[in-house]
This record gives sequence, C-alpha cells and structure tokens, in this order.
Amino acid sequence: MRDGFLLVLSGPSGVGKGTVCEALLDKRKDIKYSISATTRKKRPQEKNGENYYFLSLDEFKDKIDDGEFIEYAKVHGNYYGTPKSYVVDKIAEGDIVILEIDVQGALQVKENYPGAVYIFLLPPDMKELRSRIEKRATEDEETINLRMNNAKNELSFIDKYDYAVINDEIEKTVKKIECIIEAEKLKVTNIQGVKL
Ligand code: 5GP
Repeated sequence: MRDGFLLVLSGPSGVGKGTVCEALLDKRKDIKYSISATTRKKRPQEKNGENYYFLSLDEFKDKIDDGEFIEYAKVHGNYYGTPKSYVVDKIAEGDIVILEIDVQGALQVKENYPGAVYIFLLPPDMKELRSRIEKRATEDEETINLRMNNAKNELSFIDKYDYAVINDEIEKTVKKIECIIEAEKLKVTNIQGVKL
C-alpha cells in the first residue's frame, strides 16, 4: 500500500475549499489538515491555531529564514505558508495530509516533494463564485475585486494539477475526492510489498 502522501487542494477564493476539507476530515481518520501560518488579519469567527497560525510579518519572516516552511507565498497581499514539521511527521505515520494552498505554493511543493497529488476545485461558474465571497461578508469591495481577479489568474494554472473537481454539491465533491484518494493508493508505482 502507498505510504502517506500530500494532497494539495487549490482553487479560487470562495470556491468552498474550507467546507470540503472539513467534510473530508469528518469522514476519514487517515486524512490530516495542515494548518497554515499567515500574516492576514484574523476574521471574527477564526481561532489562532485552528484555522491558521496568525503571525506578524516579522514572525513570518523569521520562520522563512529558519527554513520552517515547505512552501510560502504572498496571496491577496498577505503571506501564507505551510509549516514543515507537522507535514513531515504525519506523512511518516502514513497519513494523507491536505494542504489547502494557492497555485504559487502548489508549484513550490511540486518542485520539492515528488509524489504529491494535486486537485483543483472549480466553482460551477464565476458569477456563483462572486456571490459566495459576498455572502461570506468578511471582505470589503476592494478585496472582493482583488480575489476575483486572482481567481481568473489561478484558473490559468489548472493544467499543473492532476484533477479538476467542480464543487457544485458538497457531498458529491467529497465523494469524488475520496475516489481520487483510493485510485492514488492503487497506482502501480505506489504498491509496496507485493512479492511475486
Ligand atoms: P484566505 O485568506 O481566504 O483564508 O486564503 C486565501 C488564499 O490563501 C487561499 O487561496 C488559500 O488556499 C491560500 N493559502 C492558505 N494557506 C496557504 C499556505 O499555507 N500557502 C499558500 N501558498 N497559500 C495558502
């Protein structure tokens, strides 16, 4: 059987990555979520150490210098990064670790960690995406416009991913991602211990 691996999940702001991750974590004990560090301001309902590790710019830069991230990027004007130690430990224990990161981060992982699986989550259409961000009501008009423009840019990187999943209904999306996981585990290159 395949050892633990990285599951990189990207997609534009508002596509529902967070909800999909929560549903996957509820369903499966072999999936772990990597909590990112960020310099973005905490939203009212968010908790430090649960949604993100909220850091000052100086704290974040110190961690970059100390090599504590497997990747990091500036997204929508703030820094985000994946702490290395948790990911390395969980993979060694045989778990699947989800990285909910942007395309810049995904490309860095691709260079440094072969064997990761890349899924791009798509909205049913772009209008729906804007209305989802607006409904969340955590961003002002300028930030919403920035996120919509970035969404279009992110979509142009879809060919760097292994799978594209349209997130129209959460249950269906989760099922599709579980199918991807099962298929990945069965890849011939990943089967270990078969004696002929
Ligand atoms: P938000 O501010 O809405 O929580 O996240 C904004 C964007 O940052 C999302 O596209 C999300 O996937 C991305 N992001 C979150 N954590 C990381 C990370 O650790 N690294 C990178 N490169 N992007 C991240």
